[in-house]
Amino acid sequence: MDAVGESGLDRVRVRGAREHNLRSVDLDIPRDALVAFTGISGSGKSSLAFGTIYAESQRRYFESVAPYARRLMSQVGVPDVDAIHGLPPAVALPQQRSGGSARSTVGSATTIANVVRMLYSRVGTYPAGAPMLYAEDFSTNTVQGACPTCHGLGQVHDVPEALMVPDDSLTIREGALAAWPTAWHGKQLRDSLISLGYDIDVPWRELPREQREWALFTDESPQVPIYTDRGPAEVRKAIAAGVEPRYMSTFLGVRRYVLSTFAGSKSARMRERAASFMVSVPCPECGGRRLKGEALAVTFEGLAITELAAMPLDEVAALLQHVLEPDWRPRGGAGDEHPEQLLAARRLVTDLLARLAPIIDLGLGSLSLDRTTASLSSGELQRMRLATQVLSQLFGVVFVLDEPSAGLHPADTESLLRILRRLRDTGNSVFFVEHSLDVIREADWVVDIGPGAGSEGGSVVYSGPLDGLREAGDSVTRRYLFDAPSPRRERRERRTGDGVLELQGVSRHNVRDLSVRFPLGALTAVTGVSGSGKSTLVVQALPELLRASLASEVDDAAVDEDTPGADPLAQRAEAETAGRAHGPAGRLRRVVQVSQRPIGRTSRSNVATYTGLFDRVRALFAATPEARRRRYAPSRFSFNLPAGRCPTCKGEGTMEVELLFLPTVHAPCTTCGGRRYNAETLEIELDGRSIADVLAMSVRDARASFTDDAEVNRHLDALLDVGLGYVALGQPAPQLSGGEAQRVKLAAELQRGQRDDTLYLLDEPTSGLHAADADRLLAHLQHLVDGGSTVVMVEHDMRIVAEADWVIDLGPGSGDAGGRVVAEGTPEQLAASPSSRTAPYLAAALG
Ligand code: ADP
Ligand code: ADP
Ligand code: ZN
Ligand code: ZN
Repeated sequence: MDAVGESGLDRVRVRGAREHNLRSVDLDIPRDALVAFTGISGSGKSSLAFGTIYAESQRRYFESVAPYARRLMSQVGVPDVDAIHGLPPAVALPQQRSGGSARSTVGSATTIANVVRMLYSRVGTYPAGAPMLYAEDFSTNTVQGACPTCHGLGQVHDVPEALMVPDDSLTIREGALAAWPTAWHGKQLRDSLISLGYDIDVPWRELPREQREWALFTDESPQVPIYTDRGPAEVRKAIAAGVEPRYMSTFLGVRRYVLSTFAGSKSARMRERAASFMVSVPCPECGGRRLKGEALAVTFEGLAITELAAMPLDEVAALLQHVLEPDWRPRGGAGDEHPEQLLAARRLVTDLLARLAPIIDLGLGSLSLDRTTASLSSGELQRMRLATQVLSQLFGVVFVLDEPSAGLHPADTESLLRILRRLRDTGNSVFFVEHSLDVIREADWVVDIGPGAGSEGGSVVYSGPLDGLREAGDSVTRRYLFDAPSPRRERRERRTGDGVLELQGVSRHNVRDLSVRFPLGALTAVTGVSGSGKSTLVVQALPELLRASLASEVDDAAVDEDTPGADPLAQRAEAETAGRAHGPAGRLRRVVQVSQRPIGRTSRSNVATYTGLFDRVRALFAATPEARRRRYAPSRFSFNLPAGRCPTCKGEGTMEVELLFLPTVHAPCTTCGGRRYNAETLEIELDGRSIADVLAMSVRDARASFTDDAEVNRHLDALLDVGLGYVALGQPAPQLSGGEAQRVKLAAELQRGQRDDTLYLLDEPTSGLHAADADRLLAHLQHLVDGGSTVVMVEHDMRIVAEADWVIDLGPGSGDAGGRVVAEGTPEQLAASPSSRTAPYLAAALG
């Protein structure tokens, strides 16, 4: 394709797009415009925007930079499209967890941290006589900057005596040293203690202090002669007589054993066991601040770099603004004598303010530079990337975004639109998949895909300026945008609930000493601008306080431990929520938290395995006559076990391809072609399909044309009910958006059987859902409440909030300006509140 022709076009011209469910789509889309891709879930929006347009742009990019890309692209796959003309280079901002390193923070991801380090290096106030440091000296990720004791982690692992020896009345033989390994290795270590002169038959606490200390804490690892099956007295005699021992063994103190197992064992079970004897404590050297002392001693405006990094970004901006005032001078006297320092300060600060502005504008002002990106919601992460892009001053690019409004209060939507318009006005095309009607209304051009999902979708229902969509009879989106009154049932009567769950004195993050009441047996929506404290309250404080205060009542195993799983030790160290929960006895016995956290980090976990559906499918495969003849057990049909999986990729289905200077690419395995199984396993068929064929089917197709097994269908129906009909059964967990992961969990929960003493906590359950799908999900939540359950959800879509029984609005602002209950009541009451920023939007939705 020749470059001249490309740039001459003012349209992106797609011809014959057939990716996934697309029905040979022909489409012309204007460039330098805001283009919304709409349609119900599974209609094919992403297949067109990401799977075709972005994928094709990426393919061309690869070809232009890497001469060997042609071979590579034949492995990675080329989008199924006849031609695309006029396609600019594309930048995609999908909704996905970063999955990046645990050390990635807001500061590093936005590169603002680099400038801050430069600021401290150049214009920081140094202690008298201290040498000037380089910018790298202020980074916890460099050897120069990191605290030497904790290597920049801020925490050190400790193995406290009370965990190593939980019961000191036991003898060593009885297992006083609980942290030691069990079985053979444990016996060997015990035998070493005999040789070392320990009495292993007196209670631990009666052993001499030095002996106890040494066995627990020594870092020595002496070679010790082992005489198996001899008593202590015999061993002593044998050593004295110089008898040849059975063998020599390396002794490891208990603490050393635990730490080295945790750090080095190949077995996840062993590491987990070791972790159970450990706690994380703040590093004694840096006090958890992760930097070396010399760097911590340098200040700017009286703040150490770690203090600045912990401040909300809007406060950082206010502080820096002050630096630009004409009479500002660096502390410590420099400035008038060192005009170059003053100049450097002004230049760096101006740069920082320019970088901070779009981030704050996108409602992220309550984040801090040191906040880990892993702790951000997918919507926040996407907006942060978007804000970073605005600064890159790219032009002539097409940005492809996935639901940029996710997680945004309607009051914040205007700033999002400002950023999108700015990208457009500087000469870029902005294509976005979107569900928010308020954002769709602002698009220059709408591409509505559908009319249905999966095989009933995949066509362009409408493409043109918004107004023309009014006439597109087939469009489901049209109804929601233009039909008044909106196509919904009579509004049901508000429930008053049958009891109250009260939280008192809640403090966590920006929520301070808050008291709040949730009606039981009702549907409550928690609203507020982003950063007001909704997730802090609903996702973090509420389950934690329930667990602590109603511990005897809440069936502990039933509390869904759906918390970030990166580092169990770090979590234990995280500050707990202050406060108490009160509720009527016996009314709440289960707390089910259905969050947007990924359901698994590896591609070995997928929709079918997570919901339990796959167990049943494997059993069905094992029950076929051919499988029985070959004696294939259900485990044969697992791609995680050696017997059935492809030996080349070990069941991954893909192989990593390393590219010089480019991100690693995953290409389908050349042996199994991505099917994950070995040839023999794939020979077994059920209803004419191999196990790999079944995993490739969408939920909707499987329901329509797969086995009539009742258990399988129960699982499939639950997935359909939450709007996941378009997802493939084998869709790997890391490929699910936060909203999809949440709905998979909800589906797993929905078919577990209803109990009336359950509290469901949901975080924006409708994110990623078309209005029509959101209505269906809402109907299910209402059904749960009709059965006696309680539902509390964070929600931004006012159409949905209008259907709740009770609304709690947090705010009024974000960060320190938030964290309070601004108003609460029925939707009608809340809509009438003069102080709530949510009120006008809710009033509009109530009609
Ligand atoms: P939307 O973005 O509108 O929700 P998608 O483009 O994600 O819809 O999906 C459209 C159809 O393509 C669905 O039927 C879905 O099951 C199917 N599909 C999506 N991703 C894949 C994939 N990786 N492989 C096969 N089919 C897919
Ligand atoms: P919302 O859910 O309403 O968008 P959050 O509950 O996420 O708001 O955040 C409320 C405040 O708490 C914000 O100022 C935010 O920066 C802060 N906060 C949230 N999570 C953390 C965390 N893990 N560490 C420190 N501060 C946090
Ligand atoms: Zn340290
Ligand atoms: Zn393979």
